[in-house]
Amino acid sequence: MAKTFAMKPKSVSLVNTPYRKIKTKIPVPESLPILESLRLHEPISMTGQPLVLWDHAQGAAVYDKWGNQWIDWSSGVLIANAGHNHPRIVAAAREEMARMVHAPVGVIAHEPVLRLAWELGQVTPGGADMFFFGNSGAEAVEGALKLARYVTGRRGIVACLGGFHGRTMGAATVTTSKVKYRTGHGPFLPDVYFARFPYPYRSPAPDPEACAREALEDVERLFEYVVAPEDVAAFLVEPIQGEGGYVVPPRSWLVGLRELCDRHGILLIFDEVQSGFGRTGEWFAAQAFGVEPDIVCLAKAIANGFPLGATAARREIMGRWGAASHGTTYGGSPVSCAAALATLDVIREENLLENARVQGGYMLEALCELQAESPIVGDVRGVGMMIAVEFVKPGSDKEPNAEAVRRILERALERGLLLYPCGHWTQTIRLIPPLTITREQVDEGLDIFTRAVLAESV
Ligand code: PMP
Repeated sequence: MAKTFAMKPKSVSLVNTPYRKIKTKIPVPESLPILESLRLHEPISMTGQPLVLWDHAQGAAVYDKWGNQWIDWSSGVLIANAGHNHPRIVAAAREEMARMVHAPVGVIAHEPVLRLAWELGQVTPGGADMFFFGNSGAEAVEGALKLARYVTGRRGIVACLGGFHGRTMGAATVTTSKVKYRTGHGPFLPDVYFARFPYPYRSPAPDPEACAREALEDVERLFEYVVAPEDVAAFLVEPIQGEGGYVVPPRSWLVGLRELCDRHGILLIFDEVQSGFGRTGEWFAAQAFGVEPDIVCLAKAIANGFPLGATAARREIMGRWGAASHGTTYGGSPVSCAAALATLDVIREENLLENARVQGGYMLEALCELQAESPIVGDVRGVGMMIAVEFVKPGSDKEPNAEAVRRILERALERGLLLYPCGHWTQTIRLIPPLTITREQVDEGLDIFTRAVLAESV
């Protein structure tokens, strides 16, 4: 995080609890040559990680080589919902690896991919029973956009302002959470339009319902003035905006979108790359809201760290893709499929959906108490364990406070807690521990976070 953390090692108070150990200066002086060397070989376009050189990770814990241990409240940026290196998931992948590392779907038939499609069909919203397996979130989004255009014969795509869908050309076209993801990369795909995503905290509307209504009216206006609905193939939306700031829309907006799509024969695509796999306390945010999409994009936590993504839809939609009209080489690797199957088992058997709801509810309550005490906490929001706190300048009219976020992240890092920001102005911190987290670990993380926020609030 070149712009976020000073590279100079700093003496910090030592920490020694069962979950956290800070034994060195931060960043660790010995790690700096390696981190600096990484900068020479990785494009600066990718920077964003805090200055910790990860050596290994287990559950909610991340270790370096110098005896430091952090609690990871980013879940490896929403990958390790079942905790890092879950032994059952690693064992399942290892077992499959001993049998067969690679078998490209569509060219070589294998059973793990069939078993996974069947299992995913039990939990994916919208009655999805067909899956195109790829390697990443962006690829899942590309698949969804191509599928929607192909089966409707229409070209228009409507996406939401503030959304994030990935970095490949199609996905970047529909990404607007920050303009830097787009700058210098155009021209983008033609026939893509943007609609407002309702952001109750930052809306001038008097209440969330009015905010939802106004956003729906905007779509009607878009259809009246800019693009006819019969030219629109799909409406693409994150049911909860992730990178854009954990913005939770009013349910009525999603219900309204569903109705609009039905009325005009438009396919509703939910990008659940970030909100999926138990994060909201349901398998997917669609179920938390009770709204059914036509196409779903899956990735990140689907295989708890093994590379896998999927575009999912009902057979009546995806079954219309013509022979060889879409494909991939590595997607649906037997190893990743085995890991995904074990991930589904772990989420079920360890009651992680319930734990997300219970611990997430407890976290939200504690954070609302913090909001009452701190003038820089503008908003606390979330569903299940997809939680965030938005920071503002004290005494201002909700002016975003990225500086406070930077310092809180730094303090937390120095005390053994890894956090990750989001939001258009990087003014928001997401609190997204692995869903396996215990009450004791929640309390320890909340304590560090609260102290860091209060230190910034004086
Ligand atoms: N969609 C959403 C909602 C995401 O949050 C992300 C990644 N942050 C992506 C798509 C892209 O995923 P990937 O980086 O695996 O391509």
